[in-house]
Amino acid sequence: MIFNPKMECMPREDMHKLQSERLCKIVKYCYERVPFYKKKMDRLGLSPDDIKSIDDIVKLPFTTKTDLRDEYPFGLQAVPMSEVRRIHASSGTTGKPVVATYTDHDIEMWSEGVARVMSCANVGKGDVIQVSYGYGLFTGGLGAHDGANKVGAIQLPTSAGNSEKQIMLMQDFGSTVLACTPSYALHLAERIEQSDKVDINNMKLRVGFFGAEPWTEGMRKELESKLHIKAFDIYGLTEMSGPGVGGECEEQNGTHLWEDMFYPEIINPDTLEPCAHGEFGELVFTSLCKEAMPIIRYRTRDLTRLIYEPCKCGRTAVRMDKILGRSDDMLIVRGVNVFPSTIEAILTEFPVFTPQYFITVDRKNNEDMFDLDVELRNEFFSPNPSKQMPFIKPLYDRIVSVVGIKPNIHIKEPNSIARSIGKAKHVNDKRNFHR
Ligand SMILES: [Zn+2]
Repeated sequence: MIFNPKMECMPREDMHKLQSERLCKIVKYCYERVPFYKKKMDRLGLSPDDIKSIDDIVKLPFTTKTDLRDEYPFGLQAVPMSEVRRIHASSGTTGKPVVATYTDHDIEMWSEGVARVMSCANVGKGDVIQVSYGYGLFTGGLGAHDGANKVGAIQLPTSAGNSEKQIMLMQDFGSTVLACTPSYALHLAERIEQSDKVDINNMKLRVGFFGAEPWTEGMRKELESKLHIKAFDIYGLTEMSGPGVGGECEEQNGTHLWEDMFYPEIINPDTLEPCAHGEFGELVFTSLCKEAMPIIRYRTRDLTRLIYEPCKCGRTAVRMDKILGRSDDMLIVRGVNVFPSTIEAILTEFPVFTPQYFITVDRKNNEDMFDLDVELRNEFFSPNPSKQMPFIKPLYDRIVSVVGIKPNIHIKEPNSIARSIGKAKHVNDKRNFHR
């Protein structure tokens, strides 16, 4: 089902026109209302009149996460507080969180984004959507909740945590849809597998919406087979609204982006120049119709590419390829770029291992050490190190050939690597403490 055929299936020339109109309007709006944008544009000698179509977007300055932190909490806000209806914030691991504020219109637009994603999976009336994202400042919980409301489904706001109860309610209330981070979904799947009280065959789950962290095709297979569902990626970021900036259709050949609301660009992160069509680079978003806190050319740090060919599902909305990683998450180990998501993708090629892993990077005698904890599945585990060797060797060889670094692999007991209920933590870079 297509939630908003007019926007999702708009001919590209019409979309270009709509984006142009919206960009001109939002640039003028930001220039007049937000000193931050006025200052930045003045410095470049740019006036809102210089922006005549969406193609002029390249003239505009970028906005970075540092800008958002510097303007904490409401420096980028374009409306008086009396027009704001909600405040969210992303969990800042270091320093101040990133703040997002919303007017009624913004919440409406956000829930439509989520509703479009849910409709991609034919989720609607009669579906029980178990929202196991955390409810709170994090946009996951309320974002999925409002989207579920918009498609007319039944909202089951369990929030994250208390897995036993989650599973009991999933069975007793007949949840048909699970929405949470992929790592938490995997944790729930493992608990269901271990439980003798519940049986996945007695559950009604059929769809999963997973997002807020990058995940791999291997993880998708794992979740689909363990939970008996079709798993869909839902993409978003607090800076643009939250989840629902885009999502996968049933073709699962990339993530459709709702480009009538969020204009995507791909730039070269080093030169900051636009990349050629189809080239990989850093994803940049401009919110084209947000009222409370519109953001111009926000550098997401997500590395991906855009696919403009029409999709078999009928949508013309541009598709984003799987995110290769975040330039923020990228580790440089012995001069080699390593994305944790690549390690995860390799791990899921080996059915003897669970997809759980933990990377520790440290520096000893001026040399980077890369330690990788992995878990064998129950049926393959033996505490005897000599029996583990045959499993380590192929994984080691594959990592050396794909990533180009030599990992120290440690096999851990099943279920011993910490599971997370929100966004997964896969890396401890101890080198930071020695600097
Ligand atoms: Zn499609």
